[in-house]
Amino acid sequence: MDIDLSRFSAPCACGRTHTITAKTVLIESGAILKLPEVVKECGLEGKKPCIVCDENTYKAAGELVCKVLPVHNLVVLNPEGLHPDEHAIEAIEAGYLDSGYVLSVGSGTLNDLGKYVANEHKVPTLSVATAASMDGFVSTVAAMTLNNFKVTRICPAPIAVIADTDVFSKAPYRLTASGIGDIIGKYTALSDWRISHTIWGEYLCENIFDIEHSAVVKVAENIDAIRAGKKEAYEDLMYALVLSGLAMQMMGNSRPASGAEHHLSHFWELNIVNGHHNGLHGEMVGVGLACITKVYKDFMAQVTDPSALIHPYHGMPHEQLKEILGFMYEDAIKESTPDDMLQVTPEKVIAAWPKIQQIVAAMPSHAEVMDMLHRAGAPSTMEEIGVDSVYLEKCLKFSPFIRGRITLMRLIDLMF
Ligand SMILES: [Zn+2]
Ligand SMILES: [Zn+2]
Repeated sequence: MDIDLSRFSAPCACGRTHTITAKTVLIESGAILKLPEVVKECGLEGKKPCIVCDENTYKAAGELVCKVLPVHNLVVLNPEGLHPDEHAIEAIEAGYLDSGYVLSVGSGTLNDLGKYVANEHKVPTLSVATAASMDGFVSTVAAMTLNNFKVTRICPAPIAVIADTDVFSKAPYRLTASGIGDIIGKYTALSDWRISHTIWGEYLCENIFDIEHSAVVKVAENIDAIRAGKKEAYEDLMYALVLSGLAMQMMGNSRPASGAEHHLSHFWELNIVNGHHNGLHGEMVGVGLACITKVYKDFMAQVTDPSALIHPYHGMPHEQLKEILGFMYEDAIKESTPDDMLQVTPEKVIAAWPKIQQIVAAMPSHAEVMDMLHRAGAPSTMEEIGVDSVYLEKCLKFSPFIRGRITLMRLIDLMF
């Protein structure tokens, strides 16, 4: 499928004009063979690509990419311990030479590296997606590890995504299950966005909301078909991942795609409470979804009259956050400035309560989430991603503060 992107860049009923920078998204069997056309459409004909792969993605797709784009510079990285860090950047720079754009062949790490290096040279980047593992293909940030710190750098998104079904449907299944986790995590992300909008009027575009929601529903309906290896279902998953990325581009940030489940996942990734672990992003999001769904459903069942429990917001727990977050404390404060929670009064929460009840009731139950994750073959417990569940309480308490956005977790904080 060659996706018509014009509908994502138009004046919208919400009053804003959303813009996206992606020019081409191609998801089909044999998509790599169409690379010369895509390069032409992107206005890059005659320019030499710096093709960035690792040994695995070179075998899976890079070799063919090099055949269809015969004039190129090639960098093949060692996949052992590959991170989006200075070491990898240096290796790419050494092979960049006279390139006019960057073409990354891979998923998470290679896509991030491609964006980062392209941004350093102020040239465009294209992405050949080799696994349906996450929704960041067209995102405008690169998640990097620089000076041993995990940081995100704003970088232009790839202007084209080429996803060849013959390639990404053969990726190690664990990567695909991770992609399912990243998408179904939007159940809580979208609920959090809607709840914040309902309470204090945070901007919410219904079109963007619907795009993201349709991506979740499509994947939820297709879990068994993906697990059974049906090519069409794989294409639908990849499409949902790209749609989610486009929704973020339209929004200008990750609000449609990231709520309390991603906050938990980011918190685990930081390794500040728990020790080191090897969970993939989407795996952690899936487990985050399971944890947050349980908390949300239990909380709503428990609170029949919010007015009996709610107290005014007293600000962030600075002393505890300094202790827990350490050097990341300053970043957390920056994220939460201005603090949207100052808009949330007990009166507004009480007035919005019936609507909040509806929003949470419409979410799948904890048992349904667990069933989806099991059917997807994805981890559903903290232990399965290598994080001891003794840390859950602490992670639930402090993860909402690493991003400034309001989630239902912040309201729970106002009542207990
Ligand atoms: Zn809109
Ligand atoms: Zn994600």
